[in-house]
Amino acid sequence: MSPFPSDRLALGVDLGGTRLRAAAMTQTGEIVASAEMPTAAQGGPERILGDIVGLVKTVTDGISADAIVGLCVCAPGPLDARNGIALHIPTLPGFDDFPVAAVLGAKLPFPVSLENDGIAAAVAEWRYGAGRGVDNLVYMTVSTGIGGGVIADGRVLYGRMGMAGHIGHMSIRPDGNICPCGNAGCFEAYGSGTAFTARGRKAAAGRRESSLSGIADILHARDIFTAAKDGDGLARDLVAEEAEILGQGVRSLLHLYSPDLVVIGGGLSNAFDQLEGGIRAYISARALLPFREIPIRRAELGDLSGVVGTAALAFAHAHPEG
Ligand SMILES: [Zn+2]
Repeated sequence: MSPFPSDRLALGVDLGGTRLRAAAMTQTGEIVASAEMPTAAQGGPERILGDIVGLVKTVTDGISADAIVGLCVCAPGPLDARNGIALHIPTLPGFDDFPVAAVLGAKLPFPVSLENDGIAAAVAEWRYGAGRGVDNLVYMTVSTGIGGGVIADGRVLYGRMGMAGHIGHMSIRPDGNICPCGNAGCFEAYGSGTAFTARGRKAAAGRRESSLSGIADILHARDIFTAAKDGDGLARDLVAEEAEILGQGVRSLLHLYSPDLVVIGGGLSNAFDQLEGGIRAYISARALLPFREIPIRRAELGDLSGVVGTAALAFAHAHPEG
């Protein structure tokens, strides 16, 4: 039974590097109001928190503050979720050791918490998306970078300072390509959409037999997937290589967390049907035997995963036993 009357709402805010989204949601996952705008990424924390307050006012228009159990904001990490402090957000200058929850909480009439965006998306898929009904889930987002979140034994795996699940920084190639984090050979430096696109641009240059060669300089991930669907050999090789790299990451995640299910979201999951076979083949060949049949599914909530997950977490924070 729900611990809250059905008219109670939680607010979710997804602070991303390019988009800022807010929503008001019921405990059954119904979004009753939402709003979004571009993130003023170079504007600094004061400007961005002002924009968040503006969006919150929009989505709570006509709703009594008493009906709102709380607000949770998600952002790229690393951040100290326990204390509501952004430690360092590479895409958002100025959020260094910045107390997001405390500063925002002083401006709003309800409790405010902060959460890693990968964990928020994992919770969204677990509660309302592709992972409904399981107790163990690994969520992996593959877009500009790679992030994630883990549900283990029916609860969110937080780790020290709420920082568990930075799966993009697993090392898969010691001494390999440099990752945006500064280390060499991270999963993100090979499997992200950014890395995939960079490989495509490099490979397409001078390959006249490929339809990609004419657009090598401006190539995007979706161009590679479209060309692969049309039978372009180079594009098909690039997609197969990407699927194998994602398989390498998923293999480690299966062995580390023993999930019932792996859910893949983010921009590259739009081409999940083209990647799934290659990921599956790698797992079937290379994972330990009892892990080979674990299902891998595409995320269901798309761009809404951040606001849905944070709103779900705001309910959980307001009623930890609920
Ligand atoms: Zn890294």
